[in-house]
Amino acid sequence: MSNVVVIGGGVVGLCVALMCAEKGHRVVVVERGVADRDEGCSFANAGMVVPSHVVPLASPGMVALGLKWMWNPESAFHLKPRASLDLVDWGWKFWRACTREHVRRAAPLLRDLHLASRAIYEQWTARWDEPFAFVESGMLVLCNTERGLEEESHAAAFARDLGMPAEVLTPKQVAAIEPDIRLSIAGAVHFPRDARLVPAQLMRALHGETKRSGVEIHHGADVRAFRTRGARIEALETSDGIVPGDEFVLAAGAWSSKLARRLGVPLPMQSGKGYSLTVEKPPGTMRTCAILSEARAAVTPMGAALRFGGTMEITGLDEAIEPVRIRGIVKAMHDYFPDVTPNLFATAAIRAGLRPCSPDGLPYIGRFARYANLCAATGHAMMGVSLAPVTGMLFAQVVSGEATSIAIDAWSPDRYASRRAMARGADDAQAFASDARATTGV
Ligand SMILES: Cc1cc2nc3c(=O)[nH]c(=O)nc-3n(C[C@H](O)[C@H](O)[C@H](O)COP(=O)(O)OP(=O)(O)OC[C@H]3O[C@@H](n4cnc5c(N)ncnc54)[C@H](O)[C@@H]3O)c2cc1C
Repeated sequence: MSNVVVIGGGVVGLCVALMCAEKGHRVVVVERGVADRDEGCSFANAGMVVPSHVVPLASPGMVALGLKWMWNPESAFHLKPRASLDLVDWGWKFWRACTREHVRRAAPLLRDLHLASRAIYEQWTARWDEPFAFVESGMLVLCNTERGLEEESHAAAFARDLGMPAEVLTPKQVAAIEPDIRLSIAGAVHFPRDARLVPAQLMRALHGETKRSGVEIHHGADVRAFRTRGARIEALETSDGIVPGDEFVLAAGAWSSKLARRLGVPLPMQSGKGYSLTVEKPPGTMRTCAILSEARAAVTPMGAALRFGGTMEITGLDEAIEPVRIRGIVKAMHDYFPDVTPNLFATAAIRAGLRPCSPDGLPYIGRFARYANLCAATGHAMMGVSLAPVTGMLFAQVVSGEATSIAIDAWSPDRYASRRAMARGADDAQAFASDARATTGV
């Protein structure tokens, strides 16, 4: 059995830790945040488990939409222009991935991952003592224009071709599913196999289960450097001491690229900042979760509260809350829910989270070629909650030397690693190591 060190205690890191511990490995999670936090992506999200999401973020039309929206500060997308070669490189790779062929290849793979993950959530909810409000409620894609409904109808047909049930509904049919809130829509698509949960409860339950399985979680430990010998990592240098291990898993969300660079391995990623606003006393409640198609926003019932979420801001690793973005979300909600007025949000809890976004919209799951004992578990973008359990399961199989039950070649963290990039990465790592030696005197 191995000593597995997981960097990052978000939803992905905890699922990896739990599944590895259940296979008998000794597991340590190194997380720089404090133990009882309720912030960051894994807490701020909309809690949707979405087998319906078979189309990756990088898909035809996304570049044009992004260019159209980026000039409107209240729109769902914003790219903060900055002099960054990484950003240019990511943008170029994203643009190249926005093809029909990419979607055609990725969709069945994503479907299989989502369905396997959902099945694990079903098992967990039946088995665990601590509930996380997993409800197999289905998901509605609400459209408030005929054009939006037509586009979503094509998406529904695409999903059906992949074996995912999806039904186009009239406003009256939607009202029968959602009788407790007034809607202003042209129609919707219903995906009955989607589900929802409450993120903070899931995180609490995962903490409980990992501890019960013997996982050690080092909170307040910031990973600063790696101790390597040849093609192996020997230990992490953290703000809280040295953490040795046999296997290292990079699950640090949007910060993973920065850490990978210290090891000289390219892992192209940008963070996509999103916000959620939780309204404790909404004017009505929902029974399913919903995506608002034209606004690219989301709504999920969480107990008596409703959580509204949205925006994708490519602004680097900046977690600040931008009021103009919040205004955009609030306005968009009123277009679909006439009784949800701006004053309702005056006391809403606002959270921001940085989604880890790879250029092709697909996660990085698997080993790096450059280090024999380094893996990546990140890049899940808008699907991290949905895909965390299956990511954990696949990792536990990789680390245990077993054949994975789902092929993981397509998710390789080396898929952008050309020889030149690897050589440049090695130079970066050497430069970083000598800088670190100069600073620390070690
Ligand atoms: C508004 C919003 C709505 C969303 N809705 C959904 C949804 O409905 N369904 C869905 O599936 N997904 C959704 N997502 C996406 C989902 O939240 C993310 O994909 C997921 O949380 C990513 O988890 P993670 O563990 O990879 O990253 P994170 O949650 O960011 O965790 C990474 C962890 O690594 C730690 N870390 C970073 N650097 C270091 C270091 N140097 N040393 C130690 N620790 C470090 C961080 O502190 C952090 O805790 C949403 C996201 C947002 C913002």
